[in-house]
Amino acid sequence: ATPAATMVGTSIGAQHGVLFKGGDILERVRDVDTVVFDKTGTLTKGEMSLTDVVALDATPDGGQLRDPDAADEEPDDTETELLRLAAAAEQHSEHPLARAIVAGAEERGLDIPEATDFENAPGRGVRATVAGAAPAAAERSSGDGAASRGEATVLVGNRRLLDEAGIDPSPAEAAMQRLESEGKTAMLVGRLSDPAASGDADAGTDATGELLGVVADADTVKERAAEAVAALHERGVDVHMITGDNERTARAVASDLGIDPENVRAEVLPEAKADAVESIQDGGRNAMMVGDGVNDAPALAAAFVGTAIGSGTDVAIEAADVTLMRDEPTDVVKAIRISAGTLSKIK
Ligand code: ADP
Ligand code: MG
Repeated sequence: ATPAATMVGTSIGAQHGVLFKGGDILERVRDVDTVVFDKTGTLTKGEMSLTDVVALDATPDGGQLRDPDAADEEPDDTETELLRLAAAAEQHSEHPLARAIVAGAEERGLDIPEATDFENAPGRGVRATVAGAAPAAAERSSGDGAASRGEATVLVGNRRLLDEAGIDPSPAEAAMQRLESEGKTAMLVGRLSDPAASGDADAGTDATGELLGVVADADTVKERAAEAVAALHERGVDVHMITGDNERTARAVASDLGIDPENVRAEVLPEAKADAVESIQDGGRNAMMVGDGVNDAPALAAAFVGTAIGSGTDVAIEAADVTLMRDEPTDVVKAIRISAGTLSKIK
């Protein structure tokens, strides 16, 4: 394109909140044949809310769900306790999944115990030492109620997190799968307690791991996300989705949006998102990666074109070639149309 045409394109873009980092980028976007979306915060609103709390010992069959909002059903003590512990462990995390758990506990009027030694395991979950979280056995041996219970390590996260801590996640599998097939993000809650603190001298020195239950958050897809996917398909552009979320949740969301299940890569660790983009590009494809988060910056840099969307973090915007000012997935189509010269000046 001539420098004048390029200037017109970038200025039309600016009027639509589509910022191209230079004229060469505008030309590159024309050759995009594949769009790779990050899921959370890009195709979905990224506004999670707590939907389910399933305590394993309250449901020995690993199945029955309770609605914590149901008026005719007082949440059972074990569920209240499970939510208190999960919220305690998550209180120092900025992750949207964590914020939703803490908000859910607060809305239910729960008093969230203090936590120390908070550790974040990116792409997996969190762990923290929670006051009063030791198992009830310690309460009996000390004899004076929950207040005297010792601390324990509480973990909240995915199967990988619990596995790595030596806690078998399989007893919660039925509950996990049911929630995930509804498109929710289900998280396991586990506890590691020091056997010495529980007064059990024969238990050895290793911490005892225990699976307590499952909590789930749900996100909603952005209103026009399906429309964006359909418009890209209409232009002959392939649409992929990558996410750190689990396979079943990812597929439920992809199916809502009309994304081919074969184009979904789930359980991608943050550091592996760039590799995922590269492998999509392996067959000679020119991919535009669209993402919003800190985690997405390397993937944006690896893509033929990196696009930061909406309330995107500074890190994502920095790494991006294109910035979409509005939090609107159909603006991806707009960027492509502007570069192809099929979108004309609005005023
Ligand atoms: P996404 O790509 O969807 O933004 P992340 O890479 O941040 O997801 O996280 C991947 C998975 O790791 C989540 O789906 C969840 O199972 C787990 N996880 C991450 N952070 C947390 C947290 N603070 N609490 C519980 N689970 C978490
Ligand atoms: Mg994300």
